[in-house]
Amino acid sequence: MKVLIDNGHGVNTPGKRSPDGSLREYLYAREIADRVVSELKNSGIDAERIVKEDVDISISERCKRANAIYKATGKKAILISVHCNAAGNGSSWMNARGWSVHVSTNASKKSKELATCFANIAMSMGLKVRKPLPNQPYWVQNLGICRDTNCPAILVENFFMDNKQDCEFLLSPEGRDQIVDLHVNAILKYIKGV
Ligand SMILES: [Zn+2]
Repeated sequence: MKVLIDNGHGVNTPGKRSPDGSLREYLYAREIADRVVSELKNSGIDAERIVKEDVDISISERCKRANAIYKATGKKAILISVHCNAAGNGSSWMNARGWSVHVSTNASKKSKELATCFANIAMSMGLKVRKPLPNQPYWVQNLGICRDTNCPAILVENFFMDNKQDCEFLLSPEGRDQIVDLHVNAILKYIKGV
């Protein structure tokens, strides 16, 4: 099994930062992605970032890269897109808080299983998980990176970068460690269950 980590956005993407500029989504997602990839490799799991560039890479190009790797591995790959959520336009602090996981409207059973693994690990860590329904831990949305990739694919919104408390948590050493642990443990749980 090969684990593909997508870090959306780039240094040139407008917005996508906390109101005080302390957190930039493209940079934060790359840091988390790098740590997740290296911890997975330490656990003997093949993993790589599909966006090595610092600039924004289009969703269609990212899907193309993921689909090529999925094909090359004989359909043994999964994709996790790492993001931070935002409730406003970045100009002021907002109230919404919490962590959530998302799949596309055309999500496969395996994509939903992967999302459920993430939500279960997040809940077991005591993190505030946003769920659309009490018995459904993932949100279903029209997401290009999940819709147009052939492998099981999810998008993770790691708390709100435009909520002051969430942003402080994300930037703290403990917060960073917990976000990395969540991704690594959920991926390992999914792989062991397949
Ligand atoms: Zn994002």
